[in-house]
Amino acid sequence: MANLRFEAVAEAAKKRPVDVRVPIERPSEYFGKYVFNRQKMYKYLPSDIYAKLVDVMDNGARLDRSIANAVAEGMRQWAIENGVTHYTHWFQPLTEGTAEKHDAFVEHDGKGGMIEEFSGKLLVQQEPDASSFPNGGIRNTFEARGYSAWDPTSPVFIIDDTLCIPTIFISYTGEALDYKSPLLRALHAVNVAATDVCHYFDPSIKSVHANLGWEQEYFLIDSALYSARPDLILTGRTLMGHDSAKNQQMDDHYFGTIPERVQAFMKELEIRSLELGIPCKTRHNEVAPGQFELAPIFEECNLAIDHNMLLMGLMKKVAHKHGLHVLLHEKPFEGINGSGKHNNWSLTTDNGILLYKSGSTPEENLRFVVFIVETLMAVYKHNGLLKASAMSASNSHRLGANEAPPAIISSFLGKQLTELLDHVEKADKKALFDVADKKGVQLDIPEIPELFIDNTDRNRTSPFAFTGNRFEFRAVGSEANCAASMIVLNTAMAEALTNFKTRVDALIAKGADKKAAIIDVLREDIKTSKPIRFDGNGYSDEWKEEAKKRGLDCESSCPLCFDNYLHEDSVKMFEDFNVLHRNELEARNEVKWETYTKKIQIEARTMGDIAMNHIIPVATHYQSQLAKNVQSMMEIFGREEGEKLTSRNIKIIKEIAERTEKIETFVEELVNARKVANKIESEREKAIAYHDTIAPKMEEIRYEIDKLELIVSDELWTLPKYREMLFLD
Ligand code: ADP
Ligand code: MG
Repeated sequence: MANLRFEAVAEAAKKRPVDVRVPIERPSEYFGKYVFNRQKMYKYLPSDIYAKLVDVMDNGARLDRSIANAVAEGMRQWAIENGVTHYTHWFQPLTEGTAEKHDAFVEHDGKGGMIEEFSGKLLVQQEPDASSFPNGGIRNTFEARGYSAWDPTSPVFIIDDTLCIPTIFISYTGEALDYKSPLLRALHAVNVAATDVCHYFDPSIKSVHANLGWEQEYFLIDSALYSARPDLILTGRTLMGHDSAKNQQMDDHYFGTIPERVQAFMKELEIRSLELGIPCKTRHNEVAPGQFELAPIFEECNLAIDHNMLLMGLMKKVAHKHGLHVLLHEKPFEGINGSGKHNNWSLTTDNGILLYKSGSTPEENLRFVVFIVETLMAVYKHNGLLKASAMSASNSHRLGANEAPPAIISSFLGKQLTELLDHVEKADKKALFDVADKKGVQLDIPEIPELFIDNTDRNRTSPFAFTGNRFEFRAVGSEANCAASMIVLNTAMAEALTNFKTRVDALIAKGADKKAAIIDVLREDIKTSKPIRFDGNGYSDEWKEEAKKRGLDCESSCPLCFDNYLHEDSVKMFEDFNVLHRNELEARNEVKWETYTKKIQIEARTMGDIAMNHIIPVATHYQSQLAKNVQSMMEIFGREEGEKLTSRNIKIIKEIAERTEKIETFVEELVNARKVANKIESEREKAIAYHDTIAPKMEEIRYEIDKLELIVSDELWTLPKYREMLFLD
């Protein structure tokens, strides 16, 4: 009997690094080669059109339809010079991936031939027949139209022979069916709110934008081994597999020498990314064997998210060329670290001030403290929602499962910043302001040393940590669209800043000095948001107890976490800032619960199939080999002596019998639990049933299978083992 596993191991061992053709130009020269960026706009568009488009991009001016034709013509010309034949609206439906439908430029010319055309109408809006995208019941089948509309703030780009146009995706009746439309609204909300608050300090500030720098973690395994694991193919993770004797305990992988094949993969990935304008900067081995990370330089949030979606797609393609498979699942292997996608988030003004960077004057530092404290207010008020934004069936293997970060959102500030906030909170007013001065209030905000940025001691267990000039939200999963979390974070921040301003303005209206009013409200908010601050060990049991007492959301069941989206506080926030309306939130939650159920359902089916069709046959095959041995030994040595001599085999025969019987029973129970759950009408209740009854049953089955892996002859085992999949060279 041919064993696919050994064939795969042999094939993987033979593979050598793939040669990568490196462009002769320097990276700075081929950066953005396939992006219709400003340089190309300038070259391919008439100057008045260029000016109007830049106004749309920079100042959020409305896209004037009259310029669309000229823009489309410029794009077409550039695209055709690059060998492009097709175009597509590229959008981000609620599936975690991206969607595209390619159309050729060709049109009949009316004379029996073809011309290549691309009009402004096609650029600006399309009506994809997309009735099977998740919509949570918003679109009835009789009105299944959806619209995709160009997002001019994210430049179009070329992949292979296709011009890709980043778009939003909404229903016929205007509801968001994607991530990008609420994201753009959230970014607009935070822009308005933050600009208003900045005016207390500098009236010349025109706008504020959010930045995002994501750090993408991923696993790579050899594609031959991948092909021999049906669980990886169907679910993205190993549903079974005993620990490798050596995994990450030696800490020898992290920042270690990058394996040659991986280095070649990274090199090609970076070239392709840079050509698409993704500013790749950092690459390294991660903690677990087979795990790596790529981080670009941070960018404006909407663009950064498009780039992350693009990168995830690119990774899969490039890996394929290198005989590798990239695993973006948050927990592909049990017993070793999972993958996340830290979201480094900050705010910048149009004149380049990083609002989370301490300044050199007391006024600048007051502004700095305002933004820090209002971020804490945002995260405190919506901690459950923020967690929900990062929750998914796959990421729940990280959040709350004894792995970074915990399923309780808290914020780490570090010693210096904590001391600064304590000072602002506790100093008596006389000490804080020298009111005697005729010039008005003088601030006594202690100076923040330059070293501050490098000084922020890192607390790796904190889900929302201040890291010098930004906050790092670490709960986001490696597979996720960062937009989900960025929608929540930016809207919550818009809300906190707006509330802050309302209260400060009220004090000023009553005659208070502006700075004194700011300080008063700050002191109140420092007190209010205190429960969210935690610098200790986020994994400890004491923290779980303490967090409960502080009233933080401690729920770790994924379907229940989603309830946060429909809490009155959340609905009000999203509606106040016109980011999402109640019916959209309800629809999106239906999608979330349904997706959760489907993922666990697929895992359960795969588990049942592998258990019954791979594991049990292999185990019983080995069992009969042993039985034959026992029998022949007894024939040779007689019953008593034979039994004694084969006692080890007899023990294994029994163990196999017991374990396979358990597996069979559990698989039957799994099937029955699914039958019960599938009858439930409500998507929420169904997801809860899958979480409570089906997911734990799979763990029981896994336990028995992993034990069998240890006793069944290696020669017979058909699934590639952890030790074979995890170590690339
Ligand atoms: P780490 O030590 O956590 O791995 P890095 O220094 O490698 O962090 O940076 C991680 C990401 O944070 C990068 O994408 C980087 O560009 C981004 N980053 C740095 N400063 C900021 C900032 N002010 N705002 C947003 N992202 C930032
Ligand atoms: Mg980081």
